[in-house]
Amino acid sequence: MARYAGAKCRLCRREKMKLFLKGERCYTDKCAVERRQYPPGQHGQGRGKFSPYGEQLREKQKVKRIYGVLEKQFRTYFHKAAQKKGVTGENLIAMLESRMDNMVYRLGFAPSRTQARQLIRHGHFLVNERKVNIPSYLLSPNDTVTLREKSRKIGHIKESLEIAKQRGIPSWLELETEQFRGKVLALPKRDEITMPMNEQLIVELYSK
Ligand code: SF4
Repeated sequence: MARYAGAKCRLCRREKMKLFLKGERCYTDKCAVERRQYPPGQHGQGRGKFSPYGEQLREKQKVKRIYGVLEKQFRTYFHKAAQKKGVTGENLIAMLESRMDNMVYRLGFAPSRTQARQLIRHGHFLVNERKVNIPSYLLSPNDTVTLREKSRKIGHIKESLEIAKQRGIPSWLELETEQFRGKVLALPKRDEITMPMNEQLIVELYSK
């Protein structure tokens, strides 16, 4: 399965904002966006304003990078979102949010979507009591995600859950820490996603 394997902090610097791709490091002063608030590369500090097309492109790249999705799959999500009833941009974000790697991250089993993805690939989770090792698997309301019995002793998962408990998990999810089980209560409404994203620009880009 294809994935981006380059430097993650570079992506945040390119988008000039924290995309929270590296777990706990993102909350410390080691964060590259805190240290160097300009895009990477030789011309990073010289880049001026974007054209309307440039803005649309940057927004699409940013959302892809937040969710760790590559171009082909992102475009597929867009087409599926456009075929659904409702607002295309909102459907797109809801679809990205319902990915299993995102849910595992949001529930606090992993400090980043990348690490959630790795845990899923290694078969640590059950969805509705059946083993699922596909990070892009889309979850629906009432689905449950459970950490497998033999994986419950893994130190960094326990640490991550502890931190998530302190920070709190989103209102559309429910976490039973004792059972290592999370439940999707509903898909998030657009205003419940706090990360700044302008999905309308993505719709305009793909509608050209
Ligand atoms: Fe982005 Fe995290 Fe790196 Fe900061 S530490 S630049 S938020 S990946």
